[in-house]
Amino acid sequence: MTNNMFFIANWKMFGDFRSVNSVKKVIKFSKNKKYSKVQIVYCPPYTLIDKLLRVTKNSKIKIGAQNCHFSQNPGPFTGSINTDLIKSIGAKYVIIGHSENRLLGDSNHIINLKIKSALKKKLKIIFCIGETLKEKRNNKTNTILSSQIRRGLKNINKNNDIIFAYEPVWSIGTGIVPKTKNLEKQVLTIKKMIIKIWKLKNPKIIYGGSVNQKNINELKKISLIKGFLIGGASQNYKNFIDIIKKTIN
Ligand code: PEP
Repeated sequence: MTNNMFFIANWKMFGDFRSVNSVKKVIKFSKNKKYSKVQIVYCPPYTLIDKLLRVTKNSKIKIGAQNCHFSQNPGPFTGSINTDLIKSIGAKYVIIGHSENRLLGDSNHIINLKIKSALKKKLKIIFCIGETLKEKRNNKTNTILSSQIRRGLKNINKNNDIIFAYEPVWSIGTGIVPKTKNLEKQVLTIKKMIIKIWKLKNPKIIYGGSVNQKNINELKKISLIKGFLIGGASQNYKNFIDIIKKTIN
């Protein structure tokens, strides 16, 4: 287990100004030398980005957005935030392709535009891919994953600013995680796909889907996984810290 693992907190549509205190606890924890190489990223709702940027200013914790609009230019897009606005406020990361947004209409084409826009602004990208339960049952997992990678990265040169988050949709928020052997095999297949499609030698692949303080000891056994995208369990700082501690120990 390497120490420079990613722990990316996706707060989804949770959290208000009171949640800031929980981030302060994680900042304190992250100052321990033992975790000096660990990369912690908080992706709060847009409304908390500025606040968390201020709080984490003198720490190594980075802040990201959970989504972005695809337009690189300002425009009549009520309620939307593009990568220019995300960059200008000082965030460093953006999640693109989360299944909760694919469900709301983000096609592979839109995701491709979003990735291009984020790269242009030099944001680091957490690019989510994953199959639904129906696709899995129909043995379509690899076809879906390969199409999400191929179309999401269309006309984009290989680079190191994209972290690939494998998030089986059937695992998000359900408490169900893939069996270790199956997950290991799937992540290896994804790695091979990325190498083939994008010619990138060493893609960073993380896992997301019901990661918690109870299943982390099992998940961390998979050395191909370079970190975790954590939804529910990241909203409680004790659980989030517990996950990091157990992974690095
Ligand atoms: C997520 O939102 O990306 C996620 C993995 O959620 P959860 O950990 O709650 O399954």
